[in-house]
Amino acid sequence: MRKLNEVLKDWEAVIGLEVHTELTTLQTKMFCDCRLSHDDEPNTNVCPVCLGMPGALPVPNRKAIESIVMAGLATNCKIQPRSYFYRKHYFYPDMSKNYQTTQGPVAFCMYGHLDLEVTGQGARERPDNTVDKDKDGSYVAPIRILRIHMEEDAAKMVHVGGGEGRIGGASESLIDYNRCGTPLIELVTEPDLRTPEEARLFMEKLRQTFLTLGISDCSLENGSMRCDGNVSIRRRGTQAFGTKTEMKNINSFKSLHDALEYEICRQAEVLEEGGIVYQETRHWEPSKRRTVVMRVKETADDYRMYPDPDLAPFDLSEEFVERCRARVPELPDAKRDRYVQAFGLKRADAAQLAGDPAVARFFEEAAQAAPKAVATVANVMVNLVPATKAVLASQVASLSSLLAQDAITFAQAREVLEVVDGTDLDPEKVVDERGMRQSTDTDALAATVDEVLGRCTDQVRQYREGNKKVVGFLVGQCMKASRGTGNPKLFNQLLRERLES
Ligand code: ADP
Ligand code: MG
Ligand code: ZN
Repeated sequence: MRKLNEVLKDWEAVIGLEVHTELTTLQTKMFCDCRLSHDDEPNTNVCPVCLGMPGALPVPNRKAIESIVMAGLATNCKIQPRSYFYRKHYFYPDMSKNYQTTQGPVAFCMYGHLDLEVTGQGARERPDNTVDKDKDGSYVAPIRILRIHMEEDAAKMVHVGGGEGRIGGASESLIDYNRCGTPLIELVTEPDLRTPEEARLFMEKLRQTFLTLGISDCSLENGSMRCDGNVSIRRRGTQAFGTKTEMKNINSFKSLHDALEYEICRQAEVLEEGGIVYQETRHWEPSKRRTVVMRVKETADDYRMYPDPDLAPFDLSEEFVERCRARVPELPDAKRDRYVQAFGLKRADAAQLAGDPAVARFFEEAAQAAPKAVATVANVMVNLVPATKAVLASQVASLSSLLAQDAITFAQAREVLEVVDGTDLDPEKVVDERGMRQSTDTDALAATVDEVLGRCTDQVRQYREGNKKVVGFLVGQCMKASRGTGNPKLFNQLLRERLES
């Protein structure tokens, strides 16, 4: 198969995502007051409503409706004043009602969009000039969202034991209805994504947005956020969509990117060899790095969809929507812009800190404790903290202040962070106890510099002849002469001043 960047010169990829998010932060299920917890003893959080006993009547969860409206507002959707719950019929043991309660053509949230900023290596995946690119190749891709609707999750099935001729080699299938009836929102994009990287960024941005709203723990790993990737290709310059394939339940950002990349290249190969792309559901196998057919779609599934007679048309008042709007917190893009403006951070660093609400809270706490070293706090957060297990905001603040005063080097900061990680030790104390604090007394440093320059006449000559690299050697000599107590950054500065004069 040809490589993605080669394929994308001849073909344009067309990608649409369907993203399911469980509203895990709620206390109760969608239509009953059973406890929402997947960790409890199986089949303990169940009742006649979520088990679908005849005659049991559903009552919608108000908090779940608030959550989906907030999700719609945060993604620029139009909140529908009236929408409907539908029954989607199918027969499978994971849904004992024999229908899933979902929404019909009118969902709570319709016609939104998210704008993606595509930069760096990822931007190079898109070779065409149908987007305006900046000088550095980065661009903004507006992605339309068709709808976000409310539905309920099915039960969890576990296949156990071994046995010949059984499904998946299992001899028994166990069902846990604790998950059944979990409020779930499904977001469907228009087919506006053009590269695997855009798809990955969209998913990431959606996750950041939902995390910031606090409506879900958004764990791809544990399946509280999962996504189906739909993809087709068409010759560059043509308009008509090709036949799409769909990859279900992708559970990591990397898999989403890699599965789409593989599928685009596979479809190109099929079409270039004169073959046909079939509309089918395919499964991504990360270990083998390929997709395999799960089922071919020959006819449209008939779910006998109709409005649920047990649930009245759902009217949302303007006051209700406004109350939801007031509860939408500062979103990642706005937060990023504020960090850039207020603290002068680099845009990419600011975006990284603003993306995860827990990281943003940590950063703001540390920044408040080290108001004179906020840029350094950001630097430490982006470059050092991710490798730690359990550091405190106060430790990051204290460490950043030391760094900003040139009392320690960046390498030393890394060392100190390792020492305080998982403890409540104060970095300042650690630095003093270990004699790491570096002299920033310029007079003392200048004396060392003069001494070193006095004896390293060869290097001084080389520098003046244009070999600026010898300054590294000279800094080393100064560090040695000061027995490591001098600050290398200041030594470097002083050396250059002397050598240039
Ligand atoms: P289906 O009926 O097969 O579920 P939908 O029309 O509901 O298809 O679309 C499902 C998802 O697939 C949406 O995200 C949509 O943007 C995307 N999609 C639709 N047509 C195409 C296509 N030709 N190529 C790629 N994605 C597509
Ligand atoms: Mg669909
Ligand atoms: Zn229940």
